[in-house]
Amino acid sequence: MKVFPAVHYSMGGLWVDFEANASGDIVQGSPRNQATSIPGLYASGECEYQYHGANRLGANSLLSCIYAGMITGPAMVSCIQGLERTSDDAPSSLFEAARSEEQKSFQAIMDCDGDENPYVIHWELGDAMLDDVTVERFNDKIQKVDDQIGEWRERANRIGIPDGEAWSNQMAFFTRHLRGMIELASVIAKGAIRRDESRGAHFKPDFPERDDENWLKTTRASWSEDGPTFEYEPVDVSIIEPRKRSYVQDGAASAAAKKIEKGEGK
Ligand SMILES: Cc1cc2nc3c(=O)[nH]c(=O)nc-3n(C[C@H](O)[C@H](O)[C@H](O)COP(=O)(O)OP(=O)(O)OC[C@H]3O[C@@H](n4cnc5c(N)ncnc54)[C@H](O)[C@@H]3O)c2cc1C
Repeated sequence: MKVFPAVHYSMGGLWVDFEANASGDIVQGSPRNQATSIPGLYASGECEYQYHGANRLGANSLLSCIYAGMITGPAMVSCIQGLERTSDDAPSSLFEAARSEEQKSFQAIMDCDGDENPYVIHWELGDAMLDDVTVERFNDKIQKVDDQIGEWRERANRIGIPDGEAWSNQMAFFTRHLRGMIELASVIAKGAIRRDESRGAHFKPDFPERDDENWLKTTRASWSEDGPTFEYEPVDVSIIEPRKRSYVQDGAASAAAKKIEKGEGK
């Protein structure tokens, strides 16, 4: 049997907002809770980045999908109630223009008559990401993958769609998804190169220690025409002070754990 690290959970996802009061508690019903950067679009669960950091700790996903789901409902209700205009007030030409833009972009995929196969590109992309941008990471190897991403992006524009039927055309749908996957892979690779430390499930043998001084922050990528741009967001550690997570309890960690058990620690 081959034993190897498998991707079981996505660490990272869509950026979402929240509103906290002065004591740090979530403001229930705030329209900001779980709102993405696209007005009116909310995300909760596996698809968003909240609650888990560089590691997928047991039951974090339950926190993420059940708790975030619970606060997202009231947030969406507040958002709708706070709207000055509804979609009924918008001219139908707005929706028609958006539909026509989407139809054009789908038609452009349907018209692809190149010599590339999207499933082959996907296979190569997946293989490279799994080999070099998963748990063990070396900057030179990640850079190589990022360079290749440019080639896959270019090849994805030379795909051939042999089936001319628009309805349920799996290859056309897949090509559309693949282009998104390529952009996301580029975000992951570029974000990984910048972070010179080891944290959670991300291990750089050249930088084996966690570096809180420089890297106790969340990587936030935004889309731009020229590729992803990066910013960093501080992590709120006011309730639980970070300490080394280790299976071998060192003196400081076990003293801190004992304090928490006795209700003395933060
Ligand atoms: C093998 C495995 C083991 C796991 N073990 C644990 C564990 O022990 N503990 C733990 O806490 N977590 C665990 N997780 C993670 C956890 O199961 C997930 O994070 C969680 O179920 C995600 O819930 P969700 O509702 O956010 O997303 P999902 O459960 O993925 O729900 C998304 C839903 O959206 C639907 N959908 C997708 N696209 C569309 C569309 N275009 N239109 C309409 N619907 C759409 C999908 O069909 C799906 O029903 C595990 C995950 C895996 C894969």
